[in-house]
Amino acid sequence: MSNKENKTKEKILFGKEKNPSSIEPKKLTLDSRIKFRCHPGVRCFTACCGGIKIILTPYDILQLTKRLDIPPYEFLHTYTEPTYLEKTDMPGVMIKLREDDNKCPFVTPEGCTVYTDRPSACRYYPVGMADFHEGGSRDEDGNENDIKEEKFFFTVREDHCKGFEEDKEWTVREWRIDQGVDVRDEMNKEWLRLVMRRKSYGLQASLSEQAKRMFFMASTDLATFRKFVFESTFLETYEIDKETIEKIRNDDVELMLFSFKYLAATLFGAQTMKVKDEKIKAKVAEMKLKQADTVKQSIKEYEELKEETARKKAETGIKE
Ligand code: SF4
Ligand code: SF4
Repeated sequence: MSNKENKTKEKILFGKEKNPSSIEPKKLTLDSRIKFRCHPGVRCFTACCGGIKIILTPYDILQLTKRLDIPPYEFLHTYTEPTYLEKTDMPGVMIKLREDDNKCPFVTPEGCTVYTDRPSACRYYPVGMADFHEGGSRDEDGNENDIKEEKFFFTVREDHCKGFEEDKEWTVREWRIDQGVDVRDEMNKEWLRLVMRRKSYGLQASLSEQAKRMFFMASTDLATFRKFVFESTFLETYEIDKETIEKIRNDDVELMLFSFKYLAATLFGAQTMKVKDEKIKAKVAEMKLKQADTVKQSIKEYEELKEETARKKAETGIKE
């Protein structure tokens, strides 16, 4: 993680725990009215596209790679740098700002060059959404239920942002539709849940390096995840119906949503995916075999130790 990252502010993606002075201490609902407009005529146009940390979600990466028509690895290498997500050990990526002016690589004086495919964090700004999860228990399958979610909205009012001085007034709902935020919410929901779930477990709960690598790969590089699904023993291992296989083979969004289910199952034991019975039986048989070998080995070692002790006693003339 670069020092630059620590100094930059973060565009809202995850709900905020603390209340930095730029967040207005007022809970808004979808029907609350806000006065705000951002357009090329504002004095501060593109001021919020520099000195900022923009975390990318899997859907953001998918849309940007399509827009730029480059494969994920090239996008990751050229436009992103690694970061940890929301104070966890979950690895992710953020936009790599330009060296010379510390601005987003997609910004020009005329505005955002990827505007219609801009990342989620850019769309949310300056209206954030907080998501509170309360209660929650697990059913016998390990799935969470009874979770009460409370959503509310807030505005981030920074001195440099002159959009609040504009005349346009609308409800939070109207503003979010205009920004295409609702689609992003839907696409990002399960992935954000994975990150927040990890956060709620705390860093004391260990997550293997292999699991972290898998999370990173599935979250940032769908092309590699596709290979993993279709060119490994994956489909022999998990019970996946034919319809789903066809969907994920042909549709990137379906594949991405599928990857969230896979991660929930492998990282947190959610029952979102089932290992085939014959695989479980084979694994149990393998473990039994290993166990039997271990027992045989320890019996052998014990017998050898006994013989060795007896031999030494005989040599030194010690009687039992
Ligand atoms: S992606 Fe576009 S809107 Fe977002 S920071 Fe970069 S230039 Fe600005
Ligand atoms: S600082 Fe505010 S008004 Fe200015 S470009 Fe950014 S969002 Fe728009």
